[in-house]
Amino acid sequence: MYSSLYEEAQSRDAKNPLGRFRQQFVIGDPELIYLDGNSLGRLSLLAKEALMQAIEEDWGKGLVRSWQKWLPQPTRLGDKIAQIIGAAPGTVAVCDSTSVNLYKLAVAALSLRPARTEILTDTPNFPSDIYLLEGIVKQNPNLKLRVVEDPLAEVGENTALVLLSHVHFKSGFKFDMVAATEIVQEAGAIMLWDLSHSVGAVQVELEKSGAEFAVGCTYKYLNGGPGSPAFLYVRKDLLSQVESPILGWFGHSRAFDFTTQYQPAEGIERFLAGTPPILSTIAMEATLDMLIEVGMNQIEEVSRQMTEYACEFWRARLSELGVGLASPPNPQERGSHISFSHPNALAIDLALIQEQKVIPDFRTPDNVRFGFTPLYTTFVEIHDGLERMAKVVESGAYLKYLDQVPNVT
Ligand SMILES: *Cc1c(COP(=O)(O)O)cnc(C)c1O
Repeated sequence: MYSSLYEEAQSRDAKNPLGRFRQQFVIGDPELIYLDGNSLGRLSLLAKEALMQAIEEDWGKGLVRSWQKWLPQPTRLGDKIAQIIGAAPGTVAVCDSTSVNLYKLAVAALSLRPARTEILTDTPNFPSDIYLLEGIVKQNPNLKLRVVEDPLAEVGENTALVLLSHVHFKSGFKFDMVAATEIVQEAGAIMLWDLSHSVGAVQVELEKSGAEFAVGCTYKYLNGGPGSPAFLYVRKDLLSQVESPILGWFGHSRAFDFTTQYQPAEGIERFLAGTPPILSTIAMEATLDMLIEVGMNQIEEVSRQMTEYACEFWRARLSELGVGLASPPNPQERGSHISFSHPNALAIDLALIQEQKVIPDFRTPDNVRFGFTPLYTTFVEIHDGLERMAKVVESGAYLKYLDQVPNVT
């Protein structure tokens, strides 16, 4: 059984149509099995080159003159992101963090349903998303936030806004975007999607779904680097109806008029606030170009094969060691990561990182999470990473980590 799983991995690698992309990434330590690209994506060679060029030429030599080139960056990259999330040109901008963009779009969304008082999200959502909604409710005593197991079953005539993550950060559960949006809009509520764990890993059909708003992260599957700014999406027909609650000069129709009268830009630029962190926007472009080149249907297909292979490995080897599958068994309901549960998940995670050269991550209370990035993860890496986890569990090598409490997991 075990040797055939390895052979299967080798054969899947040989047939992987995306295999050629791995060599486009910096593999700092060839022995390290990195299965955490859903937390921080790898550095690509082209991104490194583009960053050096931006530093030496555009900043070093061009100085302030380079703003001619930098000014369109948020919407130029936004249009590339639009291509991989099924959105129209002119509807996406790169700016700020996911958290800040969520704030801007949630407040804008609420302005479209002034008579309704309820905001819904679900308990498995990413905590920052929930905190932001709490903050908005604190500022607006008329509003009420309900964090429930299944918002789609509870959305009603008083619901103004539903915020959902397309892919849950812990379990990897993936919503059917078109069906969920329809339920929310049938009830007359506004749909806001967080695409942080799906963009660049699976297909997203924003325009087809008709969802009003979306945000997403660029340092996960888009390999934008630590702290690279997020993106936001506003459905085209709404652009003239909604405003950002943070009115900054980069959202002005003519920033360099320096007028005291605020006039929002016509397009998605109206959701920009202050000066974009230009250097932090550079690295994501190389990955965007790769994703556009191969198409998200092929990326999703390889991602599905990878999560399927991990589930097969779990059934054959991990399930009998007391490790549970904490992700949906149905591939249609999964993003690109798989979580396994174990009462000593944190200690297992630490043993893998510190002794086994495997990097997954731990998500409280009992998940070890393995992320698969179709552009650079190999099936043999998945095999070896999971096999080392099996060994750590079998041998009890994790027991000496039971007392450790790291501050980043
Ligand atoms: C990663 C992630 C974020 C990140 O938010 P930042 O403001 O960029 O730190 C937000 N929401 C979800 C669902 C995420 O997975």
